[in-house]
Amino acid sequence: MTKPKQALSSTRKILQTQASSTALTGVSIAIVMVIFATVLAGYFQYGNISISSAVATQQNNFVLWILDIVPFAFAFWGQRMSSTMSLRADAIVNDRTEQLRQQARVMELQAAHDATHDALTNLPNRIEFANLLKREVTQANARAEKLALVTLSIDQFKEINASLGNAVGDQILQQMADRLLSVAVYPMTVARTGGDEFSLIIPDIDDTSRVIDIVEKLTATLHSLFSIGKFPIAIQVSIGATLYPEHNHEPEVLTLYADLAMRSAKISQDRFAFFEESMARPDTRQLQMVGALRKALQNNLMSLYYQPKVDASSRQLISAEVLARWFHSDLGQIYPDEFVPLAERSGLINELTYWVINESLRQCAQWRGEHGLIISLAVNLSVQTLIDPELPNRVSACLAKHDIPAYHLSFEITETSIMSDAARSLQVLQALIDLGLEISIDDFGTGYSSLSYLKQLPASEIKIDRSFVDNILNDPGDATIVRSTIQLAHNFGLKVVAEGVENEQVAQQLTQWDCDILQGYYLSKPLDPEEFMDWLQRQSA
Ligand code: C2E
Ligand code: CA
Ligand code: CA
Repeated sequence: MTKPKQALSSTRKILQTQASSTALTGVSIAIVMVIFATVLAGYFQYGNISISSAVATQQNNFVLWILDIVPFAFAFWGQRMSSTMSLRADAIVNDRTEQLRQQARVMELQAAHDATHDALTNLPNRIEFANLLKREVTQANARAEKLALVTLSIDQFKEINASLGNAVGDQILQQMADRLLSVAVYPMTVARTGGDEFSLIIPDIDDTSRVIDIVEKLTATLHSLFSIGKFPIAIQVSIGATLYPEHNHEPEVLTLYADLAMRSAKISQDRFAFFEESMARPDTRQLQMVGALRKALQNNLMSLYYQPKVDASSRQLISAEVLARWFHSDLGQIYPDEFVPLAERSGLINELTYWVINESLRQCAQWRGEHGLIISLAVNLSVQTLIDPELPNRVSACLAKHDIPAYHLSFEITETSIMSDAARSLQVLQALIDLGLEISIDDFGTGYSSLSYLKQLPASEIKIDRSFVDNILNDPGDATIVRSTIQLAHNFGLKVVAEGVENEQVAQQLTQWDCDILQGYYLSKPLDPEEFMDWLQRQSA
């Protein structure tokens, strides 16, 4: 690549050469004019054209002397022009390079900011909060200081959204962020760690009275009326707090403790609670898990299972859904319904998802090597990964690393997760589609599902949730929902997958209704890589 300095000096040389050659042309023209004028003047003065008449004219004619100066004037002027122009070019190129450099710097900073901040409130998001907490805990440890982690959530926020609309809910959250920042000033940290949840780090505390003091201020500011539109709105918050190092040393465990304290506050009179050991008891399994999850990811203790998605009429494999499994030495097999929400709450979900993407593509490349065929994969995405602007680049790098074409990979995303930060997730989705990936709307029917808005989503497939599929033979209501969903989705040009198909009758009914793809225990349970290849070979036998 050309460096800016090199570009600058070559631009300067080009301009200098151009200016010099223009000056040279000027000098040449002037010399020709002098010769011509001399010859002409000699002719008029002596009546002939010869060298001697020209020399004599030059000696006697005062006007020619003036003309003789012109080429020197041109030469001098040309030189001046060329150096002035090159200096000006220097300045212009310098300015432009600096401008471009600054623009690039601003764009880099913006992208980094977007990845770590919540778009609505501009506060750090959950992932960033996990990083900040880790840093604060390390610092507190080094300085032998204490800190408090405070988590608060709005009571009945869902009802506020449902009755007053999401736009009002959004404004409440924005105003809350401002109010929190007015109390939690530097060196405290405030983040939006969930839909209606905010968290604070209070560093360097001596005792609990400082935490109580801040919590009282927070409660006072948040409980005064919000004015949005014409109506004043009152909200109530529940607040939980935990202390480092008194309650625990691990940032992930502290996060969970603050959450437990906040949940317990929701049912207490004054809506505030410090963590207590008794709160953790029913959750010991969860606590063990949160401590072990990061290590499991780092030490490759996770594994992947693959569940076939088959064509409804031919029952041939279309693709495989990738499902994560975790085998824990004490706790045994742990299913994603348990550890995925935990990974989401403790800020580890991106790490988990990027591991899943990489490992499943690696497996896919291995199968290709061993069996000569590429299995298309469907990977589940959580909302926090969906809004990560890094996602498209990382996916694309992973595909390139394992040399798998993008159209062999699709993502399953719930519509609730798309809608939770629609602007940003649609941007990332579009970038994924531009790469050539397909998008599938998972658990269809359980969210805000309105088919009319579905057409605005850049998806190519919907998966009807298994809670509907389960009952199509004995619940006429579910049967109608599934049947009309298939028809409407087809009208929008979407493929339809039915998940949770557990017997032949359901499979046949769905096929009759024109459902495209079937998935469920009846066709196959999720399988480990070896079992999956055995299944495939049995199918084609
Ligand atoms: P999901 O995306 O709805 O995945 C389908 C779940 O239904 C799987 O459970 C699968 O084992 C189960 N299933 C499949 N066929 C049947 C059936 O015929 N009957 C019944 N009753 N269940 C069936 P699993 O593997 O426990 O996954 C649960 C959820 O965890 C998944 O739901 C998905 O949302 C999430 N998940 C799994 N792996 C990942 C992952 O790598 N990343 C993320 N973000 N989420 C994941
Ligand atoms: Ca899924
Ligand atoms: Ca599903």
